[in-house]
Parts: sequence; C-alpha cells; structure tokens
Amino acid sequence: MAELDLEALHREMAAWRRDLHAHPEFGFEEKRTAAFVAQKLREFGLEVAEGVGRTGVVGTLTRGSGNRAIALRADMDALRIAEQGTQAWRSQTPGTMHACGHDGHTSMLLGAAKLLAGEGGFDGTVRFIFQPAEEWGRGALAMLDDGLLERFPFEEIFGLHNMPGLPIGHFETRSGPVMSAEDNFEIVLKGLGGHAARPHAGQETLVAACAVVVNLQTIVSRRLSPADIGVVSVTELVTDGTRNALPGLARILGDCRSFRPEVSAAIEQEMRRIAEGTAQAYNVAAEVTYTREFVPLINDAALVDEALAAARTVLADDAVGVAAEPMTASEDFARFLTHVPGCFVFMGNGPTAPLHNPAYDFNDDGLLHGARFHAAVVRRRLAVG
Ligand SMILES: [Zn+2]
Ligand SMILES: [Zn+2]
Repeated sequence: MAELDLEALHREMAAWRRDLHAHPEFGFEEKRTAAFVAQKLREFGLEVAEGVGRTGVVGTLTRGSGNRAIALRADMDALRIAEQGTQAWRSQTPGTMHACGHDGHTSMLLGAAKLLAGEGGFDGTVRFIFQPAEEWGRGALAMLDDGLLERFPFEEIFGLHNMPGLPIGHFETRSGPVMSAEDNFEIVLKGLGGHAARPHAGQETLVAACAVVVNLQTIVSRRLSPADIGVVSVTELVTDGTRNALPGLARILGDCRSFRPEVSAAIEQEMRRIAEGTAQAYNVAAEVTYTREFVPLINDAALVDEALAAARTVLADDAVGVAAEPMTASEDFARFLTHVPGCFVFMGNGPTAPLHNPAYDFNDDGLLHGARFHAAVVRRRLAVG
C-alpha cells in the first residue's frame, strides 16, 4: 500500500481538531462529535457502529488473516467551562469548552485510523473506541454495559492523554498504578436549629461540622500507612443557618483519592467512624454517603514495555521515559483495564495552560506524534509474519 503524506495528514488532523474545538459537547451529548467521527471512519473504509454506550462510536479495521484484536481508545467529551481563548477556533458554545484536549485525542485516533487504513502494515483487527463522558467517569461503563467486549472483542487496549508541561514529542508512562481512584462523600449533620442567642436550647450543627472537618484530617495523617498514597479533601461546607439563626442542618462534601481498593475502603471506614463519633460528641446525628466514581488506573507491566518500544520507533530514543510518580488525578480509561490488560501513556503538549483551565487549548504540534504512536502500537502488537 502507498505511504501517506504525513505532513498532509498533520494539517488534516489540525483542521479536524479545530473544528471539534469550536463545537464542544458535554458528556453523553456528543452527537455532532460522534457523527463527525463516524463519517470520517466510514470515509477511511472502516466498519462503524454508532450509539454504543449512548453516544460512543466503535470503528473496526481488519487486515491479513490474524485472529488477534487490540483496541485504541480516545475520549470525545468537553467540560462546562467558559473559554477565555481568542483563537479563531474558540468554542462557539457558551459555557462549554475542550479544556482537557479530548478534541486532540479524537483527532489523533482518527489520524491513526486513516494511517492504518491507508498503509496497513499489521495483521489482525483494530478496534477504534471513541468513548463519551470521560470527565464524569460514566462513558466507559456505558460502553461496557452496552456489550462492548462481546460485540467488538479485543484482547488489550491502549490510550493516551496530553500533558501540558511535558515537551512536544515526549512520551511518559509507568508500570502498575498510574492514576488514582476517585471517591466522593457527603456527610449530613442533623440537629435542631434555633435562635443564635440561645445555643443551649437547640442542637446546632455548625460547630459539630467544623470539628468533623478537622477530625477528617487525621485519616491520612494518622490512619493510613505512610507507605500508602491517599487524599481526603473537604471541598464544601453548607448549612441552613442565617445571621441570627443557628443551623439545624450542615452538609460536608468532598473528594478522596487512592490507588488501592484497601485504601479506599479504609478511608470510608475511618470517615464513618469519625463522622458518627464526632456527631455523637456534639449531640447531633450524622449520615454518611460514600460513592466510588473512578477506579484506579493500573498499567500492565509487559504492555508498558511494548508501548514504550512502539513509541521509540516513531520518537527520539531519549524522548520516551518512565514517569517517576503515580498521579492523584483520575481517568475513565481505567474502567477498560479492569476487563483487559493495557497501557495508558502521557504525551507532551508543550507549554500550554493547565488542563481544565479556561485558557487551555490543545497544541496541534503534537498531533502527528500521537497518531503515529497509535499506529506503531498496532504494528508492533499485530505484527505481520
Ligand atoms: Zn479532564
Ligand atoms: Zn482528559
């Protein structure tokens, strides 16, 4: 098969990326984006399934007679953030923008599909998975619940995320835990509100809530092993009090991160004990709701080696490295890894604004590296002969 003009592909991916950037869509609302993706995949000659997990798209490309299948995954959703950029392709949807670079991820996976459909160079089946609703950790589960693994089977999966601050052309990943689980909690304290001048006559909840917030700080510092990574962050404290009335109700909300289910379970157990014990000491009642939103992202050691080796075929040798630390942010790709082994990598996005910042804009200089990395992984894992 003829080799594609890579510079032309780069320009084409940049045009797709800017079009997607101008038309961002929130999780499970990616109708235009999904239609855009499906149309391109059909143009390249792939088999396409739409509406997988509500707005997800799966493209399938087979070459040769190999019976192995691997998956590549990108995310399509945007965030409810008002863009501050002034570029011509800035968001045309008020209050919504691609502040996490999923427009870039989608364009690079489309570029890889065009590259692999045009040039081949592999033996087997590639599933191109475009998932919805990554940002709220529901899209992967929606696709899995819609029979992703049964309808489009694959043995392993690869994905990537852009990383502001890491130079363009640099890739990084690590074996084992890469990104954390995210748990959310809500502690509701219930007492009896009353006159601000007569606290002894009621069961006000604000002082109790403050004590709960302080006591929660001991979970990480005094309950978890120093060898474990955990984060407990209280992010909101809301009461129904007013200037001269003590609150009968207080809500404490927050977010926890961890890398092992045992740590997540320990945080929940300690939180319940502290909330209930402190509430009792302050003569109010406590109700704790603890939910698990994202599972930890655990890379397969052998496939990390494979992904890094593939990256070295398209990037400078010293531009591919192993990250020193796991990251306490969360990523919905982790959900796929609870079913099949795989590897998630970070690719340099250069000196852009941070992710989820209103001035962020994916750096188009990295597009070709991402597309060629995807293709290199396929050619290594589904090698000819
Ligand atoms: Zn994000
Ligand atoms: Zn993201």
